[in-house]
Amino acid sequence: MPHHQTRIQGLPVSGIAEEFGTPLFVYDAQSIGDDYRRLRDGLRPSVDIFYSLKANPNISVSACLRSLGAGAEVSSEAELFTALRAGFAPEDIIFLGPGKTARELAACVRAGIRAVVCESFGELRRLDRVAALSDRAARVPVMLRVNPPVPTSGSGLAMGGKPRQFGMDADLLRGSRAELASLRHLRVTGIHAYLGTRFLRHEDVVHNTRAVLAVAGRLSEDLGIPLGTVDFGGGIGVAYFEHEKDPDLGALVDGINDAVDDFARTHPGCRFILEAGRHLTAASGTYVVRVLDVKESMGETFVVADGGTNHHMAAVGVGSFVRRNFPLGVLDHRGEPSTMRCTVTGPLCTPADVLAKNVTLAAVRPGDLLGVGRSGAYGPSASPGRFLSHGYPAEVLVHDGKAHLVRRRDTLDDLLDPQTLVEL
Ligand SMILES: *Cc1c(COP(=O)(O)O)cnc(C)c1O
Repeated sequence: MPHHQTRIQGLPVSGIAEEFGTPLFVYDAQSIGDDYRRLRDGLRPSVDIFYSLKANPNISVSACLRSLGAGAEVSSEAELFTALRAGFAPEDIIFLGPGKTARELAACVRAGIRAVVCESFGELRRLDRVAALSDRAARVPVMLRVNPPVPTSGSGLAMGGKPRQFGMDADLLRGSRAELASLRHLRVTGIHAYLGTRFLRHEDVVHNTRAVLAVAGRLSEDLGIPLGTVDFGGGIGVAYFEHEKDPDLGALVDGINDAVDDFARTHPGCRFILEAGRHLTAASGTYVVRVLDVKESMGETFVVADGGTNHHMAAVGVGSFVRRNFPLGVLDHRGEPSTMRCTVTGPLCTPADVLAKNVTLAAVRPGDLLGVGRSGAYGPSASPGRFLSHGYPAEVLVHDGKAHLVRRRDTLDDLLDPQTLVEL
């Protein structure tokens, strides 16, 4: 069962919060390394692991994954430059996303990244024009993102197999041989597909991998394109809630290896990309908030903290069907028994700002610190941080037993300076 951490590499999380203030995200580089290596050590060398910066775009978190050997999967100009500045080599970066601007396409061409993952025929034509204008002699490498006609297996959030803004339908791609041949400045180097996220069952990830490989193999034949790379996505989940279990990584790795071994028989030399965001950073992160108030309302106890939805929308359950609690607990535990039944809320003026509903904690008083575990992915960057103008929280990365501030919290000036006061 997932739980929150009170120490990171021996350092008390409460001490880190005293030093850097709250609300605060603390990431454990060792946990990121452990999760990365568990995949890397098991997977065939032909499978590259690409870190999806979307999950946690902090530049030092990204650099941590680069130092471990991951590639980078980015989806905006700022993510591309984060990856470059974090030290990823251009040939270890891919760029994807359904709405790429001309400026982003030009930045990809200029940087010379491994591939632009193209998501429509219009985008292929736009990129071809951008490539024509560049002074690079070589054709620009692209992968074709396919929306395969296979339903996503399992309980994850489905991204393919139905009408979607992502990628190109396999049927449409199949008839596009002439169109692809007309793109004089591009070179198709592979196929990409991403079938969903939050898969907890290894069987589902393996099923999806096999499905993508099968579609990629057929498309390469139909279109007469060589398969240098197949990117089969990933979407490996982590357990957040009671009764959830982390995926069986040994079985997952074995299943993926079997799938790529089978594929390599007909496509020797083909390389593969496994994309992973959540799985590499979620378990590393703790969201630390300070209790501002403890109060009663109609027989229920409310613990009001200094952060919530505005930094951690996922923990609050926005976008989920059922409200379930992330692992949450008292950090500076005084050894009191867990007997306080309460609901932990954030500071926002909305009843939805609930970090944990009906939890049992050790006695909590104003000034105490609470930690929300498994918070290293889709935290502040995926949350409405400007709501009520609290701004972005501080972020700390613990590396080699030392806590580094890797993002300072927003100041009042950060919030107010971009605005203009007109003379009225
Ligand atoms: C969001 C996304 C990812 C990362 O998903 P995780 O579930 O965090 O691993 C990877 N690839 C694509 C195409 C995505 O949209």
